[in-house]
Amino acid sequence: MDYDMPLFRPPSEARSLIFQVTLGCSWNRCLFCAMYKTKNFLVRPFDEVERDVIEMSRRYPETRKIFLADGDPLAAPTDYLLKVLDLMNERFPSLQRISSYAGPTNLKAKTIEELRMFRERKLDVLYLGIETGNDELLKRIRKGATAQQIIDASRKAIEAGLRMSTFIILGLGGVDGSHAHAKDSARVANAIDPQFLATLTLMLGEYERIYEEKIMGGGFKLIDKSQSLQELRWFIEDLELTDCKFGSEHASNYLPITGTLPKDKEEILGHIDKALKNTSSGMLRPEWARGL
Ligand code: SF4
Repeated sequence: MDYDMPLFRPPSEARSLIFQVTLGCSWNRCLFCAMYKTKNFLVRPFDEVERDVIEMSRRYPETRKIFLADGDPLAAPTDYLLKVLDLMNERFPSLQRISSYAGPTNLKAKTIEELRMFRERKLDVLYLGIETGNDELLKRIRKGATAQQIIDASRKAIEAGLRMSTFIILGLGGVDGSHAHAKDSARVANAIDPQFLATLTLMLGEYERIYEEKIMGGGFKLIDKSQSLQELRWFIEDLELTDCKFGSEHASNYLPITGTLPKDKEEILGHIDKALKNTSSGMLRPEWARGL
């Protein structure tokens, strides 16, 4: 099986067998994201996917986890996806779960009945970038969905029995928008009540000027190490979740933390406060070790 590069997957899918059901991202307009800018969106013909699944089922018949790529397989028609999921279930008898990236627009377009049919075929976890719960910022970054639409789409998936793995990008609002970004993002995370929640931290490098001028309309200042910790604290302190695995281990973050919310909330906040008191302590990832 040949992959159409670039290929992305969440860190937690490192042990999954990846099948590209779609190529690229059907939206591909988020201004901070360059993941699929080199690709035109395409739902791969079923017989091509079928050929890959059959080939890999011969090579790895014991596969238990599958990840569907690229950016947003839910953009594919429901009948097509059901056929793909049926084929995977048939060819991999030990299959336990299938997961996929999901964009809010395409998730919103699926009915709860369609999502239940996916769930019955072992589609289990959807990775969805909330990015921010702040509507003004969502508009600026051209996410293509409002906070309420992200909440509604995610809640529908949870009601259908799927688990949501969501993430927020610290720093999207810069220094001036930091507080509103953190608080609105916590409000949206609370409304979704996801099973998994993670943070990334915005890294712009040479694109900082473009982000400032084209997206934020000038006056944007990227948050620094301690502002990122403060933003994380503002975010975590407002979270009221039922049972959620939280992680900030992504390489872009300064402070790697993992825990379960609400159980570990005070411990996580204590950890952030400790790091805030001394940002030159060994608790923080050095700048050179950060990456996307
Ligand atoms: S929906 Fe996701 S993959 Fe597509 S452009 Fe936006 S951030 Fe990138």
